[in-house]
Amino acid sequence: MARRVHGRVIRVRRRGARGISYPVYIGRGVLSSLPGALRRLAPAYRYFLITDSRVRGLHGRALLASLRRAGLTVSLLSVPAGERSKTREAKARLEDRILALGGGRDSAVLALGGGMICDLAGFTAATYHRGIPFVPIPTTLLAMVDAAVGGKTAVDHPRGKNVIGAFHPPRAVFADLRFLETLPEREFRSGLAEAVKSAVIGDPVLFRGLERDPSAVLSRHPDAVLNLVLRSCRVKARVVEADERESGLRAVLNFGHTLGHALEHLLHYRLLHGEAVAIGMALEARAAAAAGIMKAGEAGRIIALLGKLGLPTRLPKGVPPGRVLIAARADKKAERGEIRYALPRKIGEMARRQGRHVMPLSERLVLAALQ
Ligand code: NAD
Repeated sequence: MARRVHGRVIRVRRRGARGISYPVYIGRGVLSSLPGALRRLAPAYRYFLITDSRVRGLHGRALLASLRRAGLTVSLLSVPAGERSKTREAKARLEDRILALGGGRDSAVLALGGGMICDLAGFTAATYHRGIPFVPIPTTLLAMVDAAVGGKTAVDHPRGKNVIGAFHPPRAVFADLRFLETLPEREFRSGLAEAVKSAVIGDPVLFRGLERDPSAVLSRHPDAVLNLVLRSCRVKARVVEADERESGLRAVLNFGHTLGHALEHLLHYRLLHGEAVAIGMALEARAAAAAGIMKAGEAGRIIALLGKLGLPTRLPKGVPPGRVLIAARADKKAERGEIRYALPRKIGEMARRQGRHVMPLSERLVLAALQ
C-alpha cells in the first residue's frame, strides 16, 4: 500500500552550470520516491550508501533493504558516529573500501546521516575518480536546514575545521522529516540554531513565528517542523544560487560561525555544532550592536530567541576569551591575520561594508562581548 507523502520541493539553480538545478525534497515520506529519483537524477551502476555507526542501525539497514528491493545495487559503508570521523583518514578508509568493492566512475554516493556524514561522504564523492554523483539524505535537523544543501563538502584538520574540502553540488537532496523521530533532544535543538541563523540572514517572518511560538517547533509539531525546514532551505538556496562558490554573498551564511568554529575547535568538539553557532551568534550580535552595526534591541531579540529555544548564548565557564580570539584567527575569512565577521544589520538583513559581506570588528568590542 502506498504511504502518504507530505512533501514539497525546492529547486536550487546553479548559475555557472547553464541553468542546471537540483531538487531538495522535503517532507514526511519523501524517501519513497528515492529509487525513481536516483534512476533519473543520479543513474549509477552501483551506489555506496555511507552512514555513521548510530544511523546505520536506526535507518541505514532499512534503507539499504528498500533500495535493493527496488532493484538497485547498493553497498552500505559506515564510520564511527561523531565529528571525530570527519577526517582525511576516515575519507581514505572509505575510498579504500569503495575501490575494494569495485566502485568505478559509474558509481554514486548516497550520504545517510547528519552534517558530519554529508560533509565526509560529499567530499569522498567529490574526489573519487575526480567526482561522482552525490545525493545527501540528511537525518538531523541541522543537516536538513543547512549542511545537505549548497554543495560544500569538507573534512576537519587538527589545526582547524573544514579546512580541506571541495565544492561538489548534489544531484538531489532527500530531507525526510520522519528521520527526526529518532533524533535526541539535544541534537534537535542544535539544528534549531542553524534555522535561527537562516531566519536572521533572510527570513524575518520565520524569526517572528519562532519568537511568537517556540513551543511549536520544540514539540516537533509536524507543520511547524515542515515550515521551519522549508523556509530555512529557501534562504540557503537563495544565497547559494547567487554565489555557489563563496566569492561574496555566501559569506553571510557564516553569521555566528567565526566565533562558533573557534569555540568548537577550542573545546575539542564537546559542544555540538549548533550549540557553538548559537553562542557565536549571541556574541557576534552583541559585538555588532556595540559597534553600531545593528541596534541593541535587535541583538537582544536574537539572544532571547536562542534562549527560548534552549540554546546556550554565553561563553562556557573556564574558556579564556583571549584564546577564542587566537583560535578565530585560523578562520577561513581572516585576511592577513585580521578576523572577519558576517554580521546582521537587522533581523532579516545582513550588513555590508564597502560592498563586502564580511567585516572586521575591533578586538576590544569582541573581547567585551566574550566577557
Ligand atoms: P552529526 O552528523 O555528527 O550528527 C549528530 C549525531 O546525531 C550523531 O551522533 C549521529 O549519529 C546522530 N544522528 C543523526 N541522525 C540521527 C537520527 N535521525 N536519529 C538519531 N540520531 C541521529 O552532526 P550534525 O549536527 O548533523 O552536523 C554537524 C556537522 O555539519 C559539522 O561537521 C558541521 O561542520 C557540518 N555543517 C556543514 C555545512 C555545510 O554547508 N556543508 C553546514 C552546516 C554544518
